[in-house]
Amino acid sequence: MAMNDTGSGKPGIGLIGLGTMGGALALNIAEKGFPIAVWNRTASVTTEFHAEAGPLAERIVPTATLADLVAAIAPPRAIILMVPAGPAVDDQLAALSPLLGPDDLVIDAGNANFHDTNRRQAAGLPFRFLGMGVSGGEEGARHGPAIMAGGEAADWARMAPVLQAIAAKAEDGTPCADHMGPAGAGHFVKAVHNGIEYADMQMIAETYGIMRDGLGMGATGIGQCFARWNEGVLRSYLVEISAAVSLARDPVGGGPLLDIIVDAAGQKGTGRWTAIEAQNLAAPIPVIEAAVMARNVSARRAERAAGEALYGRAAGKAVDVTPDDLEAALIAGKILCYAQGFAMISAAGKEFSWALDLPAIARVWRAGCIIRSAMLNDMAGALAEDPARNLILAPFFADHLRRSLPGLRRVVSAGALHGLALPALAAGLAWFDMMRTARGTANMIQAQRDFFGLHGFERLDGVKAPHGPWANDT
Ligand code: NDP
Repeated sequence: MAMNDTGSGKPGIGLIGLGTMGGALALNIAEKGFPIAVWNRTASVTTEFHAEAGPLAERIVPTATLADLVAAIAPPRAIILMVPAGPAVDDQLAALSPLLGPDDLVIDAGNANFHDTNRRQAAGLPFRFLGMGVSGGEEGARHGPAIMAGGEAADWARMAPVLQAIAAKAEDGTPCADHMGPAGAGHFVKAVHNGIEYADMQMIAETYGIMRDGLGMGATGIGQCFARWNEGVLRSYLVEISAAVSLARDPVGGGPLLDIIVDAAGQKGTGRWTAIEAQNLAAPIPVIEAAVMARNVSARRAERAAGEALYGRAAGKAVDVTPDDLEAALIAGKILCYAQGFAMISAAGKEFSWALDLPAIARVWRAGCIIRSAMLNDMAGALAEDPARNLILAPFFADHLRRSLPGLRRVVSAGALHGLALPALAAGLAWFDMMRTARGTANMIQAQRDFFGLHGFERLDGVKAPHGPWANDT
């Protein structure tokens, strides 16, 4: 049965939760030719939404109760849930349970923790269930988000015509909506996307910090730099908007708007979940972890002010790096961060026995989502050559890294020397230097562990030594 013509005059799709994302998604679905029934907890929101839908209102059926919503959709029904992650989702699933049949399908399109999606999939709901990450903010939801779905392939196939119609399209025309894998795989990939988003934003903020505090540049000059970088390898949504926000003027005072914005950022959960999950998977993602840490430190304004009063302000204005070094540092940092993110996804695939298609994930991120960038095309290509190979070992990115690492080294060194914090860029560089060192330093750790814990150790000749001849044994 086609979702845009159920043969009954009723829509085949419904949506619960007409907030920022749900409202925009419903309009997008209606605009692409799919009639849709909608319901919102606060009834006045539904009425206003319908009244303001303009010509799309004729494809939207507003309903007053959950039972009305279900009755308004032709079976087998598909209902998109767009409410806050957590208890609100469980409450709605419980409320829908007596109303839906086994062929009906509920799609949780919020930012659920993928463990919750796994739990819900396994709970034996009396209807079919997909967990789906949606990225792109309100604008994306309205005109083309990136969509990462998890659950049974048959349920994805049923929704694919709608979801691919509303999704963003990459430059080659491919819809940025795909099935990531079973159970919570879609929400897992969305969480890693958000972790990378944190990291991309943090690294951009770090280059901004060096320009502002190390090179004495004003917001306008900084904005022009970002705009220039956006014409090269770094072309991306986040660099583009960093130029726009740097160039914006304060409507009250008239100066650069960026200069009067409080320097404290929150973190809503997905970045933190990614960092926690990486630890569970023993998958190193230090750039993302540094970005989550940096947001938490940013929120401690009073403590930071006390620190500056005690230790003095970091010496700036004479840092020996150029904007070209900063551009190179951002290119290298970005490659290192994505290499970590994709390696984490690969580790999750093994851990959870999910056949995650890494090139497909890179392709879904090419448009619509917050981390969309020109580089993702090349990443999809490199991952397609060998999905099991870390991106830093792919010849294309090795070439990029050889060119950009000297800039990253100069920037990180200058930051350390002058007291300008670069947690994400420095974390990326330290990880890279470990990853390119065949003989590391963990032999010292192993010897220490054996000394106090009798762990034994493995010798380079392959022999397992039961215990070392340490001085405390005698
Ligand atoms: P909003 O706060 O704008 O809207 C929340 C919606 O959920 C409202 O319609 C609200 O109804 C409804 N709601 C809240 N609590 C309940 C409940 N207990 N039972 C039923 N309905 C409830 O949120 P967003 O649209 O921003 O976010 C929705 C989901 O999408 C979240 O999971 C979010 O993390 C995710 N998301 C958000 C993005 C964004 O950029 N905003 C981007 C990607 C994902 P009412 O009008 O009655 O309050």
